[in-house]
Amino acid sequence: MKVSSYNAKNSNVYHNNSNCTEGNNIERVNLQQGTGGKRLCHRCAGLNSKK
Ligand SMILES: [Zn+2]
Repeated sequence: MKVSSYNAKNSNVYHNNSNCTEGNNIERVNLQQGTGGKRLCHRCAGLNSKK
């Protein structure tokens, strides 16, 4: 499901889907809320387009 945007400090993309494996692998220490001015993760983009 779609969730509030979040990103990892050490990544160039942000995530907004709770089913994203990449997003779920972000270590808590690197996790931060918002887009960070980054581009959307391609996995999340694909998940968001599914119903
Ligand atoms: Zn993602």
